[in-house]
Amino acid sequence: MAKGNQLQNENAGTLYVVATPIGNFGDITERALIVLRDVDLILAEDTRRTKPMLQRFAIGRPTVMAFHEHNEDYASVKMIERLLVGENIALVSDAGTPLISDPGYGLVAAAHQAGVQVVPIPGSCAIIAALSAGGLPTDQFFFAGFLPAKSTQRCKALTSLQEQIGTLVFYESSHRILASLEDCLSVLGNRPAVLARELTKMYETIQMGSLSALLEFVREDSNQQKGEFVLLVEGAEKQEHSIDERELDRLLLLMMEELPLKQAASLTAKILGMKKNAAYQRALTIK
Ligand code: SAM
Repeated sequence: MAKGNQLQNENAGTLYVVATPIGNFGDITERALIVLRDVDLILAEDTRRTKPMLQRFAIGRPTVMAFHEHNEDYASVKMIERLLVGENIALVSDAGTPLISDPGYGLVAAAHQAGVQVVPIPGSCAIIAALSAGGLPTDQFFFAGFLPAKSTQRCKALTSLQEQIGTLVFYESSHRILASLEDCLSVLGNRPAVLARELTKMYETIQMGSLSALLEFVREDSNQQKGEFVLLVEGAEKQEHSIDERELDRLLLLMMEELPLKQAASLTAKILGMKKNAAYQRALTIK
């Protein structure tokens, strides 16, 4: 059995949160296979989708039980009881990492509260796959999940993200991709963006361009409207925090009395958190 953190409740079993492939079965991890073979029970969002995957990996032993948004609350209580008497349980979703726009949050939180050890078995996740190959900044990103289905609500949600710094990440489905691109363009402006479609699958397409170019690309080719999508949109520009000009001049003059101009500008820039060159240019002006 895969090892995780220290057991909190010695008699309790472990809840494993197991990522499965988002398309290509080759992306299953060795740890995922070991855990799925060894646990007493597998909780699956849709047993009809999980069973063929288990068959593909010749995993026949553990019972597979449905665990989805409609029975999550009731099933969580039952599952905690089973974990507390020592059973080991794996949670999987239809594809990718459970809890990421998928069920399981309530169960994981309840397990922690009951002193049950929760062990992640990481692997595929469409957000990370798209960011890793998309070509937009990844130092900061904001995952907004699925945008609302109706345009009015969608535009409202997008308006609240207008100032968000960091790449915006959305999940989208085939029947809303065009409408969502249109609303992104009208609310966020013509920002650089990436459409990552059918990742790890036969028709994988990663298209970069402005939002208007992507919209045209998808409009013109109905094949590009099929499948599953991650949409990345460049975040808002970082605002240089505004500098009080009188304070800048006062500091520069003080520093210039004691230091050469370049050093005075550099130290002033550090103190005020501004660009060195901007302080230097100002120092030249007031010298
Ligand atoms: N838990 C999953 C994960 O870790 O990525 C996401 C589940 S969410 C219900 C399903 C959405 O994820 C799809 O509608 C699509 O937006 C995105 N997605 C899943 N697989 C994808 C793939 N192969 N290519 C692009 N997007 C994908």
